[in-house]
Amino acid sequence: MRVPLFDLRLDERDRDAVDRVLRSGWLTMGPRTEEFEQRFAEHLGVKHAVAVSSGTAALHLALLGAGVEPGDEVIVPAITFVATANAARYCGASPILADIYGTHDFGIDVSDVERRITSRTKAVCAVHYGGYAAAVGELAALCAQHGIALIEDAAHSPSATAPGSDRKLGTLGLAGAFSFFSNKVLSCGEGGLLATDDDAVAALARSRRSHAMTSVTWDRHRGHAQTYDVVELGFNYRIDEIRSALLTQRMRGLDADIQKRRALVTTYREELSRMPGVAFPYSDSDVSRSSCYIMPVTVDDPGRRDALRSIMLTRHEVQTSVLYPSIADFTAYREARSDSLPRADLVASSQVTLPLFPHMDTAQQTAVLDALGNALESAADR
Ligand SMILES: *Cc1c(COP(=O)(O)O)cnc(C)c1O
Repeated sequence: MRVPLFDLRLDERDRDAVDRVLRSGWLTMGPRTEEFEQRFAEHLGVKHAVAVSSGTAALHLALLGAGVEPGDEVIVPAITFVATANAARYCGASPILADIYGTHDFGIDVSDVERRITSRTKAVCAVHYGGYAAAVGELAALCAQHGIALIEDAAHSPSATAPGSDRKLGTLGLAGAFSFFSNKVLSCGEGGLLATDDDAVAALARSRRSHAMTSVTWDRHRGHAQTYDVVELGFNYRIDEIRSALLTQRMRGLDADIQKRRALVTTYREELSRMPGVAFPYSDSDVSRSSCYIMPVTVDDPGRRDALRSIMLTRHEVQTSVLYPSIADFTAYREARSDSLPRADLVASSQVTLPLFPHMDTAQQTAVLDALGNALESAADR
């Protein structure tokens, strides 16, 4: 592969941070996890940060914190990773798919959300697609008006902000869920975090991530407790010390990484604006607030999208992806498609995700652009 979709580079300090944990002999849910939670809470400017085993676990706990129960409905965008919708089903609730704004903005459409609110709606889960803010201000007002919770799926947006605000995404609803999966903006392999200013939601997440036990191993190790009770149905959603230490270390480079991502995205946008047959969402000023997780484009002719991707891969060795297929098209979600989702369908059929990672060099980026230009011409000839 000349240019992979994503590439991860860990340095000596990252390896040292992991090595120190391995030498300490204490591998899970201890002082390094507490330290990471504190750092991340400070970074976000939020009262509570609860580190967990994945972004999916954080979403599940956030919805439980919002009181989502069997029979309830949770409105989610049709264009997102399946975890957003799965988390509602883990609570026994039905995910209700809402449309997105369109090819210029892949965020959940607030008026479509409003149309889908019923007496059973308990929460709306907005996704900050690609690190670009969903319409959180309007969604928060809509949710407040209906007495329902706004949950932010901030898996893509660990350091991004909303327009007209310095507040970080993931801190504007009842709770925000972050992911530290390998290819995310801040990554450690597998991990996640729930951020909230709500004391009760934080307490629920802390309890349920470790089987709702009244004390954890680390408390007992320090002699703070002898035994424990189990007070609710909880889960093993714990994160380990190795990942927490790696995350604390890698957070030092987070803002610099995002600056590099923004510079690459700016170059992509300049070059793509001169390329016929292809468009891209969001504005230049959105880029300056985004964590720039991915570089999405849409092709004008969706019928040629798959051919274009295979030319890029086989002829130019440039890997691309589709983020995301519509959830409405998954076999396991056949019943979730209530009516038409025209703009989600259009994006799902025309989207291509280009390679993006902080240490991508000029030659690699030029190779991607050349491959795309060539594939657009070749695909057009067919
Ligand atoms: C990655 C991702 C998740 C899930 O995070 P995991 O850590 O992989 O469980 C949820 N939502 C979105 C939008 C994601 O991209």
